[in-house]
Amino acid sequence: MPQPRPSPAPDAKQIDAKPLDPMALAFDEARAAADRGEVPVGAVVTRDGTVLASAGNRTLEFKDPTAHAEMLALRLACEAIGSERLTGCDLHVTLEPCPMCAAAISFARIRRLYFGASDPKGGAVENGVRLYASPTCHHAPEVYGGLRESEAAALLRSFFQGRR
Ligand SMILES: [Zn+2]
Repeated sequence: MPQPRPSPAPDAKQIDAKPLDPMALAFDEARAAADRGEVPVGAVVTRDGTVLASAGNRTLEFKDPTAHAEMLALRLACEAIGSERLTGCDLHVTLEPCPMCAAAISFARIRRLYFGASDPKGGAVENGVRLYASPTCHHAPEVYGGLRESEAAALLRSFFQGRR
C-alpha cells in the first residue's frame, strides 16, 4: 500500500517571505513559559535579521533565580557565536528587564534593546535604578520600549490572575 506522501507545507514560502518578527517569537516564548507555570516572559537575540537564540523564563524548572528569559537568551546567543560579547546583536523581550538582566545586556554589549510592557515594580531601564542612565554603566544599548505593550501586559495579568 502506497504511503501517503508528506504534503509540502503549502505556506512554507509565505512564511519565509515574511519579515522576521522577533517580538512575535518572544511572545511565543512567553506563552510557552506560562504553560510551564513560569512567569510569562520571553526573549530573543537577533543579529543581522537572524535569530541567534530565544528563551523563556525557567527559574522554577532550573531552580535558578538567574534563569530569566533574557539571561538564558544571552547565554545561548553567546554560545552560538562563541563570544562573551554580542556586539551588533539586538535583544527583544516582552517585559522591561530587571536590574540583573539590564546589567547582563550591558555586559554583553547588546546594540538595541526592544521591550514590551514597562515594569514599574521590577524594571530597571525606565523604572527603578534606570541602569543605563547610571554613570557606572559603561555600555548602554539603544532602547525601544512599549512595543505591543497591551499584549505584553495582558499576558502577565492573566497569568497572575490565574494564580490567585
Ligand atoms: Zn531579569
